[in-house]
Amino acid sequence: MMYSSKMILLTVTLMLALTGVALGDEQHRDSAARAAARAAAGSNRAVTEDAAYWNQLGQQLVLDELGKQRINSQAKNIIFFLGDGMSISTVTAARIYKGQKAGKLGEEEQLYFDRFPYTALSRTYCTDAQVADSACSATAYLCGVKTDTDTIGIDANVEFNNCTTQLDPAFHVDSVMSWAQAANKGTGIVTTTRVTHATPAGTYAHVANRDWEDDYAQSFDGVDSTICDDIAEQLVLSNPGKNFKVILGGGRAYFTPRTMTDIETGAAGRRRDGQDLIGQWVADHPTGKYVTSRDELVNLDVAGTDSVLGLFSPAHMEYFLESSAANNPTLEEMTRTAIQMLQKEANGYVLLVEGGRIDQAHHDGRAKLALEEAFQFDLAIAAALNMTDPADTLIIVTADHSHTMTINGYPDRGNDILGLVGYLATDLKPYTTLSYANGPGSVNGYLGGVRVDLTDVDTTADSFRQPALVPLSSESHGGDDVAIFALGPQAHLFQGVYEQNYIAHVMGYAACIGPGVKFCDMEGGNADEYHNRIPLHTARSKNQNRAENKEDAVFWKGTAQALLQKELDKKPIEAQAKNIIFFLGDGMSIATVTAARIYKGQKAGNTGEEEQLTFDKFPYTALSRTYCTDAQVADSACSATAYLCGVKTDIDTIGLDSNVIYKNCSTQNEKANQVSSIMAWAQAANKGTGIVTTTRVTHATPSGTYAHVANRDWEDDYAQSLDDGVDSTTCDDIAEQLVRNSPGKNFKVIMGGGRAYFTPQEQQDPETGAAGRRLDGVNLVEEWKTKHPKGKYVTSKNELDKVDIATIDELLGLFSPAHMEYFLESSAANNPTLEEMTRIAIQMLQKETNGYVLLVEGGRIDQAHHDGRAKLALEETIQLDLAVAAALELTNTEDTLIIVTADHSHTMTINGYPERGNNLLGLSGDMGNDGKPYTTLSYANGPGFNTTFDENGTRIDLTNVNTTADGYLQPSAVPINSETHGGDDVAIFAIGPQAQLFQGVYEQHYIAHVMAYAACVGDGLKFCDAKTSSSSRTIVVPYALFAKIVMVTIAVIDCHVKDCKIIETETDCKGSGDG
Ligand SMILES: [Zn+2]
Ligand SMILES: [Zn+2]
Repeated sequence: MMYSSKMILLTVTLMLALTGVALGDEQHRDSAARAAARAAAGSNRAVTEDAAYWNQLGQQLVLDELGKQRINSQAKNIIFFLGDGMSISTVTAARIYKGQKAGKLGEEEQLYFDRFPYTALSRTYCTDAQVADSACSATAYLCGVKTDTDTIGIDANVEFNNCTTQLDPAFHVDSVMSWAQAANKGTGIVTTTRVTHATPAGTYAHVANRDWEDDYAQSFDGVDSTICDDIAEQLVLSNPGKNFKVILGGGRAYFTPRTMTDIETGAAGRRRDGQDLIGQWVADHPTGKYVTSRDELVNLDVAGTDSVLGLFSPAHMEYFLESSAANNPTLEEMTRTAIQMLQKEANGYVLLVEGGRIDQAHHDGRAKLALEEAFQFDLAIAAALNMTDPADTLIIVTADHSHTMTINGYPDRGNDILGLVGYLATDLKPYTTLSYANGPGSVNGYLGGVRVDLTDVDTTADSFRQPALVPLSSESHGGDDVAIFALGPQAHLFQGVYEQNYIAHVMGYAACIGPGVKFCDMEGGNADEYHNRIPLHTARSKNQNRAENKEDAVFWKGTAQALLQKELDKKPIEAQAKNIIFFLGDGMSIATVTAARIYKGQKAGNTGEEEQLTFDKFPYTALSRTYCTDAQVADSACSATAYLCGVKTDIDTIGLDSNVIYKNCSTQNEKANQVSSIMAWAQAANKGTGIVTTTRVTHATPSGTYAHVANRDWEDDYAQSLDDGVDSTTCDDIAEQLVRNSPGKNFKVIMGGGRAYFTPQEQQDPETGAAGRRLDGVNLVEEWKTKHPKGKYVTSKNELDKVDIATIDELLGLFSPAHMEYFLESSAANNPTLEEMTRIAIQMLQKETNGYVLLVEGGRIDQAHHDGRAKLALEETIQLDLAVAAALELTNTEDTLIIVTADHSHTMTINGYPERGNNLLGLSGDMGNDGKPYTTLSYANGPGFNTTFDENGTRIDLTNVNTTADGYLQPSAVPINSETHGGDDVAIFAIGPQAQLFQGVYEQHYIAHVMAYAACVGDGLKFCDAKTSSSSRTIVVPYALFAKIVMVTIAVIDCHVKDCKIIETETDCKGSGDG
């Protein structure tokens, strides 16, 4: 995998030599460097991943989705898996880590919960915090009420550290465990942390400070422990803890007095009050069993034991990778025993299983340990799947909050996820794929004025701490949304973007427990009564600063019950999509979505975290896996080919499958290598087509709709001339393909930037007077005008405003010689906004009797990130959101499918622990170990490096710097002229006909197959071919190309009847191997 240092030096020299040359895409890593690296290392892509492979897989995924059946029954049991700090980037990285452990490339691997049928996003902020901790978040997802950070089981009326308010029962909120016990269900908790730690404590405790795990901890805060029960006491002595059938985890010392020595270590207990709470538990549970080792647990007489308390370590259990000496059960083993114990319960059970040390490994800056803990967590989920029946057991997997780890750089496909990216930074030193925004790993980042050279460091060692930008003893949580994965009864209630406290309300509904609306009440046919049950939340509907309008338990219960009602009323639109509007936020990572939401709210004068983007409200959400056939981290070219043509391919290439050779013209012209896009399919069905973008219309994303190129940079013949040996007379550049070839020449609407790419050098730009770029003397704008006698060409907002839509057939708008200006820098330009272009594009296409397909790209979100300018990226995202709102206003969701997604992620994180309403673009409020503040938003790499460190190598003090200025570059840890993309999954948001086909975790190319299915275009499965009867649907597979799919159809559906319970054989069931 690793290149020789000689080769790296060579490629970097080449990279520097080309700096300043007007290459087609100046913002992405240099193609020459990549080509040289490829020659040195060889391609890592699996050779079998050609168009046929991806088409078959895409069609299978559609069938898979169509075969998915809701389980609309009561959940007898709930198993709730909480990956503490399991951010979406952790999920993506753990998936790759799992695959690579098994000797595969890795990116194509699936975690068990990746296969769950329903996926949603969870908004994790707390009532007083932009970035959550595990205490307030546990209160949200377990009790259904958001509250202040560091407090558990109480609402926001409680003051932190205030024992008196903790004792007020009016402020207590009960957890799903209390609700379950009231319904005579068994309950239990399993964790790898202390059982008194924040997450498990969320199931049973009411505390004004999460640290009060025992009376010794309370003594530091001067709390009278005789009045204010500590967490260990509450577990053993109070409801619902004392009734738990299963308690497994660490934390023995918190239950025993100083006078008692630990059974394993001989160390003293921690309690100052002399209580032996373990002895108390044993006395209270005469038919129970207390165990302290793996041997005792696996030999437990489950049938003869009524309840089990297992405390396997004095404090947290050891990290899996450091547990070889300990006689500890694994999380999987604990989960198995817990389920066996609870399966004895006649009325079912609710079980919490926490992978608690994912979080702590991240805090330690040790990504490998975090990924291994996530892997162990996944094994526990597999065990639960095998031991339960999805017909009666709801399994939920989610996280409480994110972390600051990113997957950065452009590592090749199959590159060791724990290794170096493979390309050098501008200081000629390598950098790791995984890194943190802050934390103890800063010692492996920038030290003593220079960046640490990791060339000869084993970054894959268990003990290695991934580099971090800001020095902190403990890496901080992240503020971006986390994912929810669900399977079983009512799992379909997770398919949107939700406030985190909604989760508890769904659990209550599904299992028919708790005070809220219940599935069982609906079955009783008492619909009206059930409607009345839902508290109104109108009084609180306007989000206000918490200080003025407290977000207490009433508020959160009310809003969540209303959200649940909305979810229950949601009806999939089972119709053909006459129109499709596909919105692509280039580089719009999930962190970008979360940040843009807060930015939007703060622009409106609110705290911000509670704001919703237009597409946050879309009914269906999914996750999209963005890697390409030869790249762990995608670019916009290979990803456009995936989501527009339904085929994953090599990085930097467009409209061709992976048989193409990068920069090789003859392989570009080879018809067998070319793949067509949704636009070609739509035109074959006599639909209108169009593209709108803020970038050049020849840039990677828009050209994905019409071009076939072996190098995305070949936007015109001038760009081609920079690559040796490219004959532009035989190898059409992208601008030529748009004007001369199908489907581009048939587009009804083309709007964006890039005029200079269409005009010869002899011609001056109408706006700037600068020369055109083309060497061949061709004026493609004139050619387009000739070809479209009833068309209209415009170059400014003024001209666009004057267009008489009714009288023209086509519209070409090129508003800038290159990319259109950033919105925040466009005041001088006579440019339409993305919203304005979108409105006119839709009006043009609404003239089409057979409907239309329109691509709208917010293309400069990506470029602002590359520039390290987070504010500009967020503003571009808001502009995209306004365009989405315009589309919703102009269309009917009954016949128009609207999809919003991104092509790939970026390396921006929301880090630190800023307070609720803290300016998102400002300082986090916390100090690094160097005594200096740091910004909430930062990048893993990029040009902001220069504003991060001064010439002496010390971190610049930002105290008096206006970090909210348009021109400010957010700090970055690695010096790279253009910040890189990120490798974590991105989100899909959908509304309209067949939007319901987006509700899981998918390979990115699946999107094109769904669009074709929904609009009944293309060669594959179509909604219109499906014969729907009252009870079932038969899929007609029309083309021989998919003969193999016909053969596996029955197996797939059969698999779904069983809901893929036997996961181990699913590969056979699906008939699809790994890549
Ligand atoms: Zn944490
Ligand atoms: Zn980019």
